[in-house]
Amino acid sequence: MSVPTKTPALRLRLAPAAESLVRAGHPWVFAASVRRQNRPGKMGELAVIYDRHDEFLAAGLFDPDSPLRVRILHRGKPQPLDHDWWRRRLEQARSRRSGLFDAQTTGYRCIHGESDGWPGLALDRYDTTLALKLYTAAWLPRLPEVAGLLAAGENRIVLRLSRNIARAARAQFGYEDGQVLHGAAPDGPVVFLESGLRFEADVLRGQKTGFYLDQRENRRLVESLAAGRRVLNLFSYSGGFSLYAARGGAASVCSVDIRRQALAAAERNFARNRNFPAVAACRHEMAQADVFSWLREAAARRFDLVVLDPPALAKRQSERQEALRAYAGLLAGAVERLDAHGMLVAASCSAPVSARDFFDLAREAARQSGRGFEEWRATGHPPDHPVTFPEGEYLKCIYLRFR
Ligand code: SAH
Repeated sequence: MSVPTKTPALRLRLAPAAESLVRAGHPWVFAASVRRQNRPGKMGELAVIYDRHDEFLAAGLFDPDSPLRVRILHRGKPQPLDHDWWRRRLEQARSRRSGLFDAQTTGYRCIHGESDGWPGLALDRYDTTLALKLYTAAWLPRLPEVAGLLAAGENRIVLRLSRNIARAARAQFGYEDGQVLHGAAPDGPVVFLESGLRFEADVLRGQKTGFYLDQRENRRLVESLAAGRRVLNLFSYSGGFSLYAARGGAASVCSVDIRRQALAAAERNFARNRNFPAVAACRHEMAQADVFSWLREAAARRFDLVVLDPPALAKRQSERQEALRAYAGLLAGAVERLDAHGMLVAASCSAPVSARDFFDLAREAARQSGRGFEEWRATGHPPDHPVTFPEGEYLKCIYLRFR
């Protein structure tokens, strides 16, 4: 898929360190590493990177407006990135997921950005609806072709834009966040299955693409731990963890979220799954509150299983220190809410906070409580969210069992 251009190809040379990184498979080139460029580049055009011996190194999507200047699409032997090439690339993402999900799971990630060879692009399936999320405007000039390829044989595809590109998308390309690119507009939230549970996703306006598909494996573990327990789900969103806990036989579940719409969705999701006797039998309580203050106000309450899954508290490196402090406070508050033999399930989706940093904070909060504990498990990315480069690693979760 080429953007037609009469001008010569955009050619780049990089600083040696960046050249080595790209050669080793890293998908990003920052503006600061570009040493030579034959002409100014346009949004989304193909940038061809040559090494110090003037040999072809890689080609990628050029973004003149971002410090992340090139996102690598192809490396190795030069090749035309024609329609066949794109089809093969899509096929790779598909075959990587073959056999992962049965008919009980119709919501999952089909393409996970850089790690699937589609840098800055995610594609999620919710039953027969696809949600295409873009994190760089560099995809927009070729969107008709890309969406056409992805939508082939599908019912519907909707476009989601990360906040930082929404304005440029509208002004320069005429695309809106939540625009339906193919098929009829949905007449409400889309309902899909995850491990046999029915959930709704607001694919047009919801957070991420409407659901946190990346937490599926942790939710399954929580289900296996929930029998007979009083469960607290902090930052519950639409009740993903809450429903699994309920089906796993939790005596009660308390979902806490600051957004009324999130809790309303959680309530609807409970109603959708009352066909499971354990869900129907579970007491579900909801609190619309800021978790930070709720933890203080609920000082007297005790639970047997606490799930702590806050939004990304650090999006960039400069926010890391403050995020570490906030996580420490949340972890301490969560541990205090745990009764004897309680289990803490604590997750972080902040890329600048490493798994090691986060797990250390969790262990420290556990030690500070003065109670004995053991580590039951630590988890990372689920298989439909593969990760092939360090900066792509954002999700980590630790399970601590107290005595
Ligand atoms: N655990 C959820 C995903 C959590 S997303 C799942 O598995 O689906 C983070 C959620 O935290 C969002 O729903 C957001 O509304 C909520 N949130 C953000 N800041 C908050 C705060 N200070 N207090 C309570 N909820 C908050």
